[in-house]
Parts: sequence; structure tokens; C-alpha cells
Amino acid sequence: MATITPPKYVRQVLVTLQGRGYPAFLVGGCVRDMLLGVQPNDWDITTAALPEQLLELFPGARVTGGRHGTVTVRVNSHSVEVTPFRVEGGYRDHRHPELVQFVADLTADLSRRDFTVNAMALSADGLLSDPFGGAADLRRGVIRCVGEPERRFEEDALRMLRALRFSARLGFSIDLFTMEAIREKAPLCAVLPPERVREELEKILLTAAPETALEAVSLGLLDSYLHRRLPQPLPERLSALPRRALERWVGFAWLLEHYGCVSSAGGFLQALRLDGRSIHLCSQASLLLNAPLPETEADWKRCLRRCGIEASLCAARVAEAFGRDGRSGKLLRSVLKSGECFSLRQLAVTGDDLMALGLRGRAVGEMLEFLLDYVIDYPENNRRELLLSLAGGTEE
Ligand code: ATP
Ligand code: MG
Repeated sequence: MATITPPKYVRQVLVTLQGRGYPAFLVGGCVRDMLLGVQPNDWDITTAALPEQLLELFPGARVTGGRHGTVTVRVNSHSVEVTPFRVEGGYRDHRHPELVQFVADLTADLSRRDFTVNAMALSADGLLSDPFGGAADLRRGVIRCVGEPERRFEEDALRMLRALRFSARLGFSIDLFTMEAIREKAPLCAVLPPERVREELEKILLTAAPETALEAVSLGLLDSYLHRRLPQPLPERLSALPRRALERWVGFAWLLEHYGCVSSAGGFLQALRLDGRSIHLCSQASLLLNAPLPETEADWKRCLRRCGIEASLCAARVAEAFGRDGRSGKLLRSVLKSGECFSLRQLAVTGDDLMALGLRGRAVGEMLEFLLDYVIDYPENNRRELLLSLAGGTEE
């Protein structure tokens, strides 16, 4: 069934552990992806060996997973994460387990994992351990909790967002009971750190099914960030946006603002602790989307001067994807392609030139702004001599 095989250095770690009598397996996402015939992001290994035994066995290995016992092993200049079988318990604050205990049993380790498709292990000789029916769920295309969904979401509320993320990424549906539990336990997401919520949302937004982020809103997973939930279904398609974080965040946050779920797109992204630069760009782009986009080249240039290229392009792409704009985006791209002046940097004269003409202080800035404004309307006149004579002519 599996057409993807682990790289040599990964097999080497498995074989070394096995050779020393420690059962060892590939586990989690990499097994899921191998069975799907998809290249895994990373290769995780789980083993019966304890952290100190791993450190002894692999020269240069370091404990990198704190109390989870994860040890990063170096093989032929590659890093592999190896984690002892463990169970968890006593979940504090619906996120962090109070108790982490290393165990000798693979099935116990698999039982603490979130979904059946993530709770399979594969030995070096290709033997699959699948005590919860993950392979069958992979074939059916279903995300289903290991164990009782209500309890699993109470332990860790992030799993609700993870369920949506894996369903979006794999194009899977969510098992009925798992979905019921998400509806019931949705309010627990309020305790999650905003950074973790943001990470999951961004991963969802970057899949081929970004509408799943809107579903998270409808299910109430983001209630603590919103005045109200979204009406569904919306005519706007997030999936029509380019698969880039900026456009997807703007599209998502702007819809929330547009439908009255948040006061401002920027404020929402700030609450999610998006980075400052992205918040700024998203706020600018959302503001642009709140009014009709420019319809003349000169208006686009004034917009570019005020908001910059990235926010302007982003707003145009979102407007196009949401069917709110016929030709404005095309116009913007032709302005950018023309190389015509819309910023002081592109103006054929500088502040020094104006000072050489005798201008001083605020008058320099005001004259530059005047000339830029003029050149925006008359791009063919962005010529040094002409602008200098214009500046000189209006001089007192
Ligand atoms: P990706 O390809 O996105 O990395 P992944 O399945 O490897 O997907 P990770 O977040 O890297 O996901 O987690 C690795 C494994 O650890 C998961 O497959 C799952 O078995 C387990 N896991 C991760 N987070 C949780 C959680 N919150 N609750 C239970 N198990 C989890
Ligand atoms: Mg992973």
C-alpha cells in the first residue's frame, strides 16, 4: 500500500534501537502520510527506550522535548526526533497535561494521540500497529477521535481546531460523534493561547479548503474573538484567493468585519497576535476593500502612495476573488508594469535639488508633494528640467 519509504537515516535510527532491544516505530503524521502516498513533513519515531538510554545510544543526541522526553538524534547530519512511549493525564487548563509518564507499551502511547489516522505506528520491517482503526478511517476519509471525543476535547481544546485542520488538509469529513463533541465543547477554545489558535487557523487557511476557517467560526470555536457568529453560507469564496498567508488572512478577517463579527479586521488579527507587519498590511488592505477600489490610473497611484504596493495588490486580489471588482485589479497591475511614478523615490527631482533652488524647511516637503501630485496626473512630465522649472517658477 505504502509507496513512500523513509530515508536511510531514519531507518538507521529504527534499526539501531531495535538492535539494542528497544522496540521502535515510525509514528503519527509520517505513517498517515506514507499510507496516503504523500511525502511526510517530518519523521517521528517512538520507542520503548527512555531519554537517558537514547542519550547513551546516540552520540550528540540532545533532549529537546522537555518533560515529554523527546530526544533529537543526529545521524549523518540529519536530525530525527525520537520520543519514548508515554501516557499523559491530569490535563490542566484544557491544554497541558499535569502528568507525563513513560511506559513500555506502544498501544498506550497510541491511545493518547488525537485522531485514529494519527495514531498508527510502523516498524522498520513494515508492520503496521493500528489499534484504533486509523487505516480504515484513512480509506473512508474520516477524522475521528481516539476514544471518547468529549473527554479528548476536554483534555485539550486545541484538538478541535486540529480536527478541522486535518479535515481541511486531507479533504476528509469529520466523524459524526467527533463533530457533535466539537459543537458541545467549542466554548473551551476560549482558554487556548491566541498564538496556538492563530497557528491552526493559518494552517487551515493555507489548505485547499480555507472555508474550513469559516466553519470554525460557525461552530463557535472563535467565539471569544467575535461579537457574533457568521451567517452561512457566504457568497464569497476564500478558496478563490491565491494560496498565500497575506491574502487568505485579509480575506478571512475582512469577511468577519464585513459581516459584523468583529469591529475591525486589524483588531481581530491583533487579538490573534499576528506579526505587526502582517497586521499593518491586512488593516490597510481591509480599509481599501471597504470602499470601491480605484477606477483610474491616477487614483491607483494615489492609493499606492498612501498604502504601498503590497496592501494595494492584496486588496485587488481579494476583491477579484470575491467578485467585487471587474477591472480595477487589471488597472493596478498595468500601473505597476508601466513603471510610472507614484512615490517620492521615483520623482525626477529630490529634496536636495529643491534646496539648491533656495527652498528651505517645510517648503521643501510641500513642494515635493505638489510635484508628485502633478506627476501622478501627468506621468510623461516626470522630467527633471521640467519639474525644476515648475518648482522655480512657483518659488516666491
Ligand atoms: P503535520 O504533518 O502537520 O506535522 P502531524 O500529524 O505530524 O501533522 P504534529 O502536530 O506534528 O502533527 O503532531 C505529531 C503527532 O503527535 C500527531 O500525529 C499526533 O499523533 C500527536 N499529537 C500532536 N498534537 C496532539 C494533541 N494536541 N493531542 C493528541 N495528540 C497529538
Ligand atoms: Mg508533524
